[in-house]
Amino acid sequence: MNKERFVVVGGDAAGMTAASQARRQARELEIVVFEQGAYTSYSS
Ligand SMILES: Cc1cc2nc3c(=O)[nH]c(=O)nc-3n(C[C@H](O)[C@H](O)[C@H](O)COP(=O)(O)OP(=O)(O)OC[C@H]3O[C@@H](n4cnc5c(N)ncnc54)[C@H](O)[C@@H]3O)c2cc1C
Repeated sequence: MNKERFVVVGGDAAGMTAASQARRQARELEIVVFEQGAYTSYSS
C-alpha cells in the first residue's frame, strides 16, 4: 500500500511549523520539505 506523503514548500517558520504539526498528528506520515535556501528554521 502507498504511504501517504505530506509535502511542504518553504522551510522557514511557517513551513517547519506545518511539518512539525503534521508529525504530531500523524506519526506514520512521510513528510518532505523543500527549501530553496541553504538553511531551514530549526526551532520548530
Ligand atoms: C524586516 C523584518 C524583520 C523581522 N524581524 C523579526 C524578528 O526579529 N523576530 C521574529 O521572530 N520575526 C521577525 N520577522 C518576521 C519573520 O521573518 C517572519 O514572520 C517569518 O520569517 C515568516 O516565516 P514564513 O515561513 O511564513 O515565511 P518566509 O520566512 O518567507 O519563508 C518562506 C521560505 O520558503 C522558501 N521558498 C520560497 N519559495 C520556494 C520554492 N519555490 N521552493 C522552495 N523553497 C521556497 C524561502 O526560501 C523561505 O525559506 C521579521 C520580518 C521582516 C520582514
